[in-house]
Formats: sequence, C-alpha cells, structure tokens
Amino acid sequence: MYLFSSPFLIDHNVNNLTVQYQIAKFGQGFTTSYYFTSSHDINIDCSEYVLMPGDWEIRAEVTDNDNSTGNKYYSNALEIAALYPDVDSIKNSSDVLGVVDGAWQETKSAATANSIYEYGGGVYIVSAIFGSSPVLVYEVGPDQQSPPFGCSSTETSWPIGVNFTGDPVDGATFLAATYHTHPPFTYCSYGDWRYVGPSDWDNSSTVPGVLIDYVGTGGKTFWGDDINGTTEIYTYGPERRSIQ
Ligand SMILES: [Zn+2]
Repeated sequence: MYLFSSPFLIDHNVNNLTVQYQIAKFGQGFTTSYYFTSSHDINIDCSEYVLMPGDWEIRAEVTDNDNSTGNKYYSNALEIAALYPDVDSIKNSSDVLGVVDGAWQETKSAATANSIYEYGGGVYIVSAIFGSSPVLVYEVGPDQQSPPFGCSSTETSWPIGVNFTGDPVDGATFLAATYHTHPPFTYCSYGDWRYVGPSDWDNSSTVPGVLIDYVGTGGKTFWGDDINGTTEIYTYGPERRSIQ
C-alpha cells in the first residue's frame, strides 16, 4: 500500500530491453525460425521485409536483459503471405525478354529440314536488401536446347531446375517461372503444320511460363512459313507459383 503522496520506484530500466523479430514457417510454432537483426526501439514498428516467397508468421521477441535469466516476451504472431511474382510482370521484364529473344534467335538458327529444337530455361529472382530497400533482380537462363524432334509435335517438358535457396531475412534465389520457344516449321515437309501458342503440356505446368512462338494463321503455323514471321510472347500455367 502506498500513500497517495508517496513516491515509488519502478525497479526496471526500460533501456535494457532488446527487440528482435522472429519469422518462421506459418503454423509450425516457431520451431524453425530466422531472426531479423533489429535496429528498432521499443516502440515496436517493424518495417522489415520478407525476402522469400512463402507462408510465414512473424512476431516480436523482447528480451529483458536486466533479468539474469534473460526472460523473453512475445507479441502476437502476424501471418505474412509473401507471394511469388505474377507471370505478367515476369513477361514484361526486359531482362526476361532479352533472354527469350536470344533463345528465339538460337531456335531459328538451329532449325533444319531434319531436326528442329526448342530452347528454354528458368526465370530466377534474386532478392536482397540494398541499403535499406529490398531489390529483386532477375536471373534468366542459361538456355538449354531440347532434344531434336520432328515436324509433328511441340510437346517438350522443361526441367524446373533448382528451387530457391536462402532465407526470408537475408535474401534468396528462387525459381519464379520457366521460358521456352516453339520451333519453326519453315523447313518441314509439304502438309506439315502445328498449333501456335502454349501446348496442353505447357498449360498443365504448375510453374508459370513465358513462351515465344509465331502468331500464325488461324492459330497454326505451316511448312514453308517465313522463319522470320511475326511472333508473340505467350504465357502459360498458373498466374504465379503457389506458396503452399
Ligand atoms: Zn511448349
């Protein structure tokens, strides 16, 4: 009991607290966690960035350094769904388009009367903090050549390649999409044709994709068509990779 006029002491130095932010896979109870090295003061205002796609949860961890046992206190956990980039933004990236165009030139150069090829590869994104802002840089390729195939099909699967590495705090490299070309039928035999645009195989992909192919005529390209005919950049698969 204190009398109304009596001073009292709070035996605690609030400057002797440290705040960190802990991030973990959502729903796993912070069993595997990454920590932000925090420069925030006790007015908790977390403006950190999550640098890897995924379903995460984040909370503040306050350590009381005046207490010899280092008592820790936690805020409520906040779910953060960090989405992959969508395929339209990938398609419109000049970095992606430059590599896709290079693959197209290779595709045309490799086509003969005996064999045609597709070229393709992965679209990776490298995330990092630069200064105090997040940056995303595309890494596209390298181009891979498909096995040769004849003038009857464009159904080739493109390997997904490596998946992401890194972590949500320091940054990551992750696969966001694939890209590939469809081959010209210019040197094929009389009567050969194929549909232009994404194949059924392409459309069944679980990873979004960017495709360069001819515009064609009535949805098809034919034997004898100009190898330098008009092209279009198509997309296929889901709008973005799933974080589940
Ligand atoms: Zn295809």
